[in-house]
This record gives sequence, structure tokens and C-alpha cells, in this order.
Amino acid sequence: MIRTVDYGETNKIITLYTRETGKVGVMARGAKKPKSRLSSVSQLFVYGHYLYHHTSGLGGLNQGEPIDSFRSIRNDLFLTSYAAYAVELVDKLTEDNKPNPYLFEMLYQVMHALDEEKDPEVVLFIFELKMLRVAGINPQLSSCVNCGLDNGKFEFSIREGGFLCHRCLSIDPYHIPLKKKTAELLHLFSHMDLGRLGNISLKTETKKEIREVLNQYFDAYSGLFLKSKRFLEQLDRFKLE
Ligand SMILES: [Zn+2]
Repeated sequence: MIRTVDYGETNKIITLYTRETGKVGVMARGAKKPKSRLSSVSQLFVYGHYLYHHTSGLGGLNQGEPIDSFRSIRNDLFLTSYAAYAVELVDKLTEDNKPNPYLFEMLYQVMHALDEEKDPEVVLFIFELKMLRVAGINPQLSSCVNCGLDNGKFEFSIREGGFLCHRCLSIDPYHIPLKKKTAELLHLFSHMDLGRLGNISLKTETKKEIREVLNQYFDAYSGLFLKSKRFLEQLDRFKLE
């Protein structure tokens, strides 16, 4: 379940991301009443079985059964905000009724990884890189965008959409300098399977570089402005203080 909006006194309109049909909005009648049989499955992030009927407009949720409600995420403000960002990203970068089982699986893996308390920043790096691919705006991270050189040290060019080698740096004076390790990690994360993510620990400095590249890249290419992202940034500042 990736989005919930209250509707009237007792109802909710919830957005599901399903394996079979992709994103679907349904009315959960009475879900705001604590005793409603729909209340537990109408909570944000819940993974479960949902039975709904389709009409030409908004469908209706008939019943549901939660399989995993990701308790560790729910009980932690930071994890909740990372997860909120992940689901908002899916919501904004997908259209209704366009199935994408790969994305469904990936979203489940993200929630699972956050719930298992893997490093949430790393989980989000991997997920964001994958989402850029889903949206068809992925940067080139395996070789220089300009000349194709695939080894050596790379910097990142927002304007050119990927790595630049040392010979081609001059084509974008605004390139973002990267440590060699950061460039390697960006490449690795862009095709890493989230299900295989172990306990990886990155230096704060490396995380900062990756975050900077991803933020600037999303701003330039995705056309998105996400409330959950702003909230995360505020939390990050709070953490540093
Ligand atoms: Zn080059």
C-alpha cells in the first residue's frame, strides 16, 4: 500500500501497488473506524492480499489480509520517513494499471531491507538508481558518456547524464568531483540486487557524495518535487546537529 488519503468521516482512498495490475486506487469504506475489518490493511506500507472490485472510476476494497506490516519501520520515525519517500517515488513515477512485476518485487525488497534495519541511506541509493531506470532516465555509470572509456577515474556530469573521464572533463565545467570509491559504488549500486544487500558500511563523506549526485540528478531529470524528500532532508539536518 503506497498512499492513503482520508475521504469523509470514515473512508479512505488507498493506492495499492499490485503485482498483477500495477498501481490501483480503491475506496476503503469505513477504514477509518478502528473496528473496521479494512482498517489494518489500509495502513501505509502494508503488504498483503487485497480483494477489490474494479469499476470504470475508483474501485472499492472488499477485503484484505495483511501479510507483513513492517513493524520496525512503523516504530521508527527515521525509517518511516525513508519508506515514505520510497513509496512516494513509486507513486509519482508510475501510471495507473500498468503492471511491472519487477518494480513490485523491488518495492517489496526495499520495505524488507528497511524493516531489517539495513542502512536506510544505502537502501535508498540503490532504489533511487533503479527507479531512474524504471523511468527511463538512468545515468550512464559504466563508462564515460562522451568517449566511452570504461576505466580510470570518473567525475559526474549532470548535464551530460553520467560519468566523464579525465580527458573529457572540460566539456562540462560544472561536473561534480567524485572519489574513485564513490564512482565505483554508484556503478555497483545501479545494478545491485537489493535482496542481496549485506551489511555494508560507508563513510559519511562517501554517502554525502552519492547523495549530492542523486539529488542533483533527480532535480534535473525527474521533474519531481516530493514532500517526503523534503521531510527526509530536514530530518538529516536534525540528525547532524
Ligand atoms: Zn571521456
